[in-house]
Amino acid sequence: MTSDDAPVEAAAAEQPATTFSDLGLDGPVLKALDDVGYETPSAIQAATIPTLLGGRDVVGLAQTGTGKTAAFALPILARLDLSQKTPQALVLAPTRELALQVCEAFERYAAHLRGVHILPVYGGQGYGVQLSALRRGVHIVVGTPGRIMDHLDKGTLDLSELKYLVLDEADEMLKMGFAEDVETILADTPDDKQVALFSATMPAAIRRMSKQYLHDPEEITVKTKTQTSANITQRYLVVSYQQKIDALTRILEVENFEGMIVFVRTKNVTEELAEKLRARGYSAAAINGDIAQAQRERTVNQLKSGKLDILVATDVAARGLDVERISHVVNFDIPTDSEPYVHRIGRTGRAGRTGDAISFVTPRERGLLSRIEKATRQPLNQMQLPSVDEVNVTRLARFDDRITEALSAAERIEGFRDIVAHYVRHHDVPEVDVAAALAVVAQGETPLLLEPEPERPRRERGTRDRDDRDRGDRGERRWRDRDDRDGDSERRDRRQRQAGPGMATYRIAVGRRHRVEPRQIVGALANEGGLRRDDFGAIQIRPEFSLVELPADLSDDTLARLENTRISGRLIELRPDRGAPPRRRYDDDDRPARKPRHKSSRPRD
Ligand code: AMP
Repeated sequence: MTSDDAPVEAAAAEQPATTFSDLGLDGPVLKALDDVGYETPSAIQAATIPTLLGGRDVVGLAQTGTGKTAAFALPILARLDLSQKTPQALVLAPTRELALQVCEAFERYAAHLRGVHILPVYGGQGYGVQLSALRRGVHIVVGTPGRIMDHLDKGTLDLSELKYLVLDEADEMLKMGFAEDVETILADTPDDKQVALFSATMPAAIRRMSKQYLHDPEEITVKTKTQTSANITQRYLVVSYQQKIDALTRILEVENFEGMIVFVRTKNVTEELAEKLRARGYSAAAINGDIAQAQRERTVNQLKSGKLDILVATDVAARGLDVERISHVVNFDIPTDSEPYVHRIGRTGRAGRTGDAISFVTPRERGLLSRIEKATRQPLNQMQLPSVDEVNVTRLARFDDRITEALSAAERIEGFRDIVAHYVRHHDVPEVDVAAALAVVAQGETPLLLEPEPERPRRERGTRDRDDRDRGDRGERRWRDRDDRDGDSERRDRRQRQAGPGMATYRIAVGRRHRVEPRQIVGALANEGGLRRDDFGAIQIRPEFSLVELPADLSDDTLARLENTRISGRLIELRPDRGAPPRRRYDDDDRPARKPRHKSSRPRD
């Protein structure tokens, strides 16, 4: 690299017209990209692909999630000589997992190239498979440096005609002690090969390596100057890929949204996801770069007018979208860079309103998240998957709203009142049971509430956790733990309600929904009720109310003083908690207590 070589900043996201064919790709590779559903190159791809196709070496500062694999794989595939029998491309990766992922990516991008052989080579796998494949002839080898060196030492890997060498996650390879192996491979392969080095960081050792072994490389960094608007609340949820759809459904249940854009990475997924949301009863439609302009406009107008609530979109399709109703943006797939991130979340919080942005991050994508946080200089708050309790509280609140709404249609109510009264008189059934029966009719077969997750036997759970660890699937385990909590909550509830000696559990009518915190509860009860610090036991904040352990013998005087106490503007209505039988957990203070049901007419659960 010459000293006056300024790094090239990848800014593809700012140039709306860039397509993969603009970058110089064509034929079978382009066709494969269409199959996988990529619409536009990511920033690192837009900057790297033309350079590599032009034959120049590259040093790319890029992390996992930026699309760097395609950035080096596509130019290799586009120039592959299928008649050459010895390996012509070698990708070095720090771990077996990454080597396998890179191989998979190559296979997908090579789907329309007949007769391409790609071989993963890593330690821990028997030599037999690798040797027989190498003997048959492979075009691309992807491997960890140690095992590649073993093959070179044994003379079983012929790199004498190597044309392309990629160092993927170079900094990681050095950290894992592969520096010497990497240098040997760089030095002992043909001098005229093209080298592409990718690294998330640029320590001195890598600079030195690139100076020594690369020829006039172009240094490419992804532009990071970005700003997000302060009126948008940004959160993220760690979730595995398979759990995303359920996570989205729970978010749709508990978030108070008006209009929403759900961003995904590929156009194929826009259609699939919109379909799944419609099947779950939401009004959702897909927009992507393949959809004709007229249709796109129609869809956007439906979103504006409220006929449609959710748009599932790719970056391209949502470019410039300005709809005030969009209260939420969900990044179902986190974007490859901070630039598209800022653009995406800017679709909400329009016209001075506030907005919410929620990004799904798989455990592997945490690096990408930190990069976005760094670039936007705004930390994102981690959110938890809405629990079964939270979903159910929202469902009950909506159910109440429907009743209130129906009651306000006085004329229609009038018509049914006599019918119900007639039924009550002739069947000797309490009115509340008739109302409950009508609710069953209105609800149909779909259960009103989510069932808590069943508790699993302890041993099985232990075994599964071990399996999860073997798979390295941290996100899934975390999720399961949360669900276990839902499942265990009943037992825990009962245990926690048993206050210590001399103490009793009291209930107050403010909860998480009213954004109450334990310190506010302690403050209010201490100041207004004259309670002392040692009078407080455990405090549990629930969605609609809170449970506080206080002395069992609170004096009448204290109770009287607390009668008019408010927290966050709400009367706390302190009273001893009598617990709740399992199925009545939502029977909280906000809801009128139910009379005992008439036995004969009890609807089946
Ligand atoms: P990587 O940084 O190579 O690990 O890629 C991260 C993810 O982005 C992978 O799931 C790719 O399939 C996906 N991806 C890469 N390039 C694009 C693109 N141009 N458009 C949409 N998704 C992409």
